[in-house]
Amino acid sequence: MSIKTSYKEALQNKIFSIISQASQELNVESYVIGGFVRDLILGRDFKKDIDVVAVGSGIELALKVSQLIPNKPKVQVFKNYGTAMLRFEDTEIEFVGARKESYQFESRNPVVENGTLQDDQDRRDFTINALAISLNSSNYGDLLDPFDGLKDIANKILKTPLDPDITYSDDPLRMMRAIRFANQLNFEIEENSLQSITKNAERIKIISGERIVDELNKILSTPKPSTGFLLLYKTGLLDILLPELTALNNVEEIEGQTHKNNFYHTLEVVDNICPNTGDVWLRWAALLHDIGKAPTKRFNKKQGWTFHGHEFLGGKMVKKIFERLHMPLNQKMKFVQKMVMMSSRPIVLSQEEVTDSAVRRLVFDAGEDVEDLMTLCEADITTKNPNKFKKYHNNFIIVRNKIVEVEERDHVRNFQPPISGEEIMEIFNIKPGREIGVIKEAIKEAILEGVIANDYQAAYDFMLKRAAKLGLKIN
Ligand code: ATP
Repeated sequence: MSIKTSYKEALQNKIFSIISQASQELNVESYVIGGFVRDLILGRDFKKDIDVVAVGSGIELALKVSQLIPNKPKVQVFKNYGTAMLRFEDTEIEFVGARKESYQFESRNPVVENGTLQDDQDRRDFTINALAISLNSSNYGDLLDPFDGLKDIANKILKTPLDPDITYSDDPLRMMRAIRFANQLNFEIEENSLQSITKNAERIKIISGERIVDELNKILSTPKPSTGFLLLYKTGLLDILLPELTALNNVEEIEGQTHKNNFYHTLEVVDNICPNTGDVWLRWAALLHDIGKAPTKRFNKKQGWTFHGHEFLGGKMVKKIFERLHMPLNQKMKFVQKMVMMSSRPIVLSQEEVTDSAVRRLVFDAGEDVEDLMTLCEADITTKNPNKFKKYHNNFIIVRNKIVEVEERDHVRNFQPPISGEEIMEIFNIKPGREIGVIKEAIKEAILEGVIANDYQAAYDFMLKRAAKLGLKIN
């Protein structure tokens, strides 16, 4: 991190001098503001989007900038928002007029009026996001930092420019943003802010599911999402957004027998999976893999604590969560559901002797997703007993090797019945009916059990025998 008061040399991108010239010609002040400045000071990767604020019309400034660029890039104007966007080389530059905002209780959409740079900085969510660098010729490159954002960057603190109760209550999405930034940047949320988020947590209900999920996805995309989820938990937000998860946060004891705390276990699984996948949907599966455990938890003297059928119920709960949070109800949801429903399969397998037929069934049921399922289940090994840890991991290596072996030999991943129903009808000259299903199922079972090879001739011979038992003969 480099702390200076002039950032002239940092404004290398040609676009800044062009904006500067355009604002001079229009006689309006302009500043680069927000995430670009924050990340510049933090030394984070160069951002591909740049926010520029004009003390005047952002749209006019954008149009002027476009005129000054030789290929005159297209300006996208969003009249309702008073903003405009253009692309320059590989960056997107968003222009907005400086504004003052006032909020009504039931909405996060403010009433907006023209304002000064200071008004515009006041409406920003965090001091570190309110930093601006001047693009005006009189003080080009100067940092304008009315809330001591630099100090907060140095101390790794997230703090609101105004009273946090006002900032969070005005736009409750900022509570999620605070936690997301804390997680992404490895910053602490200032104590006052944290209390205020806790106090205003219920206000999150006025935010749309899409916005919330956007932030949850960003939290899940960090290298250690548990940090964000623990903050969501501590502030009460998680109880509102994903009560299925907080329901896992308990340990009961009956007759001296306890079960593990499945909330903390879940967070460990999510962290464990991160180095092995960047796929946010697989990370969602890790987050939700045990949600069926709260409603299925039972105790009996013989077995102690059980969670029978939690995977199946968990899969059903996934759909409800996706619906509630307005997440896509498409293949992604089906993928998460499938992972949750199958989340115990490889574990059971790895605790027993690993037979070919069990592996064949696993590959058959998981299909294309079998590697992802293995990745999830390996992350699920959170035992603190080093012997068990080693044993389970070794067993997973055996399962993985067997998957490759079985795959090469039997090709069951995208299983297609070697003999179709139509062929069976033709061979035995029969009409559609239950026998066809019985024969097809018997062939599939024989392949999965390893009784016959997955090829046409073996299936044909087997079919003749099975059909004979049903009293069918070749036509
Ligand atoms: P990232 O791109 O990593 O999300 P960013 O800070 O650029 O970081 P944006 O959502 O692009 O995030 O927002 C740009 C700037 O707009 C922020 O830096 C902040 O100053 C302001 N901003 C965005 N959303 C809000 C909000 N809900 N309330 C107040 N200010 C906001």
